[in-house]
Amino acid sequence: MTRPSYRSMTKEQLESENLSLINEIETLRKSIKSGPGENQRKFSEILHNLQVHQEELRTQNEELRQAQVNVEQIGQRYRDLFEYSPVGYFIIDDNYAVLDANIAGMGMLGRTKGRIAGKPFLLFVEKSSRQDLDAHFAEVKALRRSSTELWLTPDQGPAFPVILESVQLGDGWGGGWRCLTTAMNITDRKRAELALQESETRFRAIFEQSPLAMQIVDRQSLSRMTNRAWVKLWGDEARAASPQAVLSKIGAEEQLAEGFAGRSVEFPPVLVAGEGDKGEDRWVHGYLYPIRQQGVPITEVALVNEDVTDRKNIELALAERGESLSRQYENLRVLSEISALPPSNSAQRLSEALALARQHLDLSMGMIGRIDGNRLTIEHHSTSPATEIADGTSFDLGGTYCTLAMEQGDVVAITHMALSPYADHPCYRLHGLESYIGAPIYVGASLYGAVSFSSLTPNHRQFDDGDKELLRLLARWIASVLEEDAIRRELARSNIELEQFAYVASHDLRQPLRQISGYVSLLERRYSDKLDAEAHEFIAFARDGATRMDRLIADLLEFSRIGRNAKPVAPVQLGETVNEAIANLSASISETNGRVQVINPLPMVTGNAMDLTRLFQNLIGNAIKYRMEERSPEVIISTEAKAMSHVITVSDNGIGIEPDYFSTIFGVFKRLHTAEKYEGSGIGLAICKKIIDQHNGRIWVDSQIGKGTSFHVELPRGL
Ligand code: ADP
Repeated sequence: MTRPSYRSMTKEQLESENLSLINEIETLRKSIKSGPGENQRKFSEILHNLQVHQEELRTQNEELRQAQVNVEQIGQRYRDLFEYSPVGYFIIDDNYAVLDANIAGMGMLGRTKGRIAGKPFLLFVEKSSRQDLDAHFAEVKALRRSSTELWLTPDQGPAFPVILESVQLGDGWGGGWRCLTTAMNITDRKRAELALQESETRFRAIFEQSPLAMQIVDRQSLSRMTNRAWVKLWGDEARAASPQAVLSKIGAEEQLAEGFAGRSVEFPPVLVAGEGDKGEDRWVHGYLYPIRQQGVPITEVALVNEDVTDRKNIELALAERGESLSRQYENLRVLSEISALPPSNSAQRLSEALALARQHLDLSMGMIGRIDGNRLTIEHHSTSPATEIADGTSFDLGGTYCTLAMEQGDVVAITHMALSPYADHPCYRLHGLESYIGAPIYVGASLYGAVSFSSLTPNHRQFDDGDKELLRLLARWIASVLEEDAIRRELARSNIELEQFAYVASHDLRQPLRQISGYVSLLERRYSDKLDAEAHEFIAFARDGATRMDRLIADLLEFSRIGRNAKPVAPVQLGETVNEAIANLSASISETNGRVQVINPLPMVTGNAMDLTRLFQNLIGNAIKYRMEERSPEVIISTEAKAMSHVITVSDNGIGIEPDYFSTIFGVFKRLHTAEKYEGSGIGLAICKKIIDQHNGRIWVDSQIGKGTSFHVELPRGL
């Protein structure tokens, strides 16, 4: 009989083997009586087996004990794991009461095991989470496990969020239903989630409320998000439509790829044609930029559009305004150029003004017409290219556009005659002028005529208020030139008359005066012995008076002669005229021990040398004459160059003049002293003034009583 190896037997098998061996021994003991030899052998075999058996049993018992120790160790380890786990563990019973809790669990609830054990778990969750907890345990019962987010309330301090995970436990956890519940504090995660949510809400709000139209587009060119402004700008269809539709409207389809390649693109404003009934054309400014996320390739691009129609309209209006301002500026510039035209010859001035304004208006003809009965005569004109029109040509008044301006009393401007209400005007039929701008000219209160500019072609732009104002101002300026011209002519005429009168009067007066003084002398000679002393005295007075009167008349004659027989103007070296004047005065200069110095070279001017010599002779002569008794006269002559003129100054160290008389002294026969004190008639400075006037210059004085006087003479620059 072969037996299996004892080593491979279980304890139970060994025990039953033992039992069968003992039975066998008993059987053997009984049979020993029948055959001792055989039985003896069998018996010792069985005994041996029994010994082996027992040894085996002992070993197994030892192993079992060791295993038990191990199990206990493992149990302790698991117990430690349970106890010291950072996650809160709770064992929950059938009534959802806490049977056990680990340290972390107690920590979470802020209570000792004694205050937790046997208490319903419900006590430790926030009121708002209680329903969730019930549902949680119900689910564990039904499905063996559940996971729920809810809020725990510690003994002290605020509630905090946890994830509750429960698994139903198997039997072996004492009688009844049990589950193991873990609670994990997710305050930090929750906080991060909240922050994310908040920033998401914030982003949404900004995105939605932004006045900029925005769309987020993915790599398939599909719209992911659009905001309100986008819908408002592009309409509802655009929301569903591919962004390409919008990109094509702003002419930037190709650029989307740029965004996905990580580049931002800006599109200059474009005019997008309006659609539908209420669609208006709009200016749209666009941007496109990639939406980057850390460490991830770009999957979305933002398309931003701004309706800049209002801004653009303002810009355009401003540009237009600027253009009109610069035209106004040009108008003013032309006007100032016109008003700066040299005043010498009014006819030339008017023609030049017409040319300047015509060029500025870019029209081919400009003219000043004067009303002459029922005709309009061209007084001045400027044309380009030159036409056959000549000054003096006259037109029937009704056949000119100028009649329109004169009838209306204001500027008439027609940009394109054929399209205007005046298309059937006789002037159009006669001359075919397409553009016209003209203004009436009033000299004083009466209508003189009109100034106008015209062309055979329509004007290249609408005449505006600036052009009209230019014409009004030009008409006024022309009127002032014409008035000035009339006054000048009148003045010249009356001057000639006056001079003639003064000449004739002084010339004719000398004759009777000579007669008077001749007879007074005769009376004295013939009746000398018959007359008494008083009569002689009277005769002397009469002769003196006559002599003085003769002197006055001679002076007046001289005054009236100035300019009458004037030599033609020529270049004059003032240095020479001054030297001549000094030479003429040499006797009185040396008599008074005087000194005349020219301190810088005198310029050359255009004028009459003889008159200019006389001018300096009068000034230097006065400087010597009106000297202070106690000091010798010192005369200094200097010159200063100005942009358009020379100012020559004759200064002395004489008696000076009261400021009250600074202008009166230039009048005829105006004197500040008696002839007894300073001889003279008071004509010298009047002559100076007349000479200077004829040279288009100026003369003035400044002086200090007792210190000296300076006469300044300003003469236009010579050739
Ligand atoms: P007249 O010398 O013959 O009196 P003017 O016309 O030359 O006439 O001068 C007018 C007046 O101006 C003089 O009477 C004199 O009072 C004053 N006057 C002119 N020149 C000078 C001067 N250099 N210094 C002071 N007074 C002057």
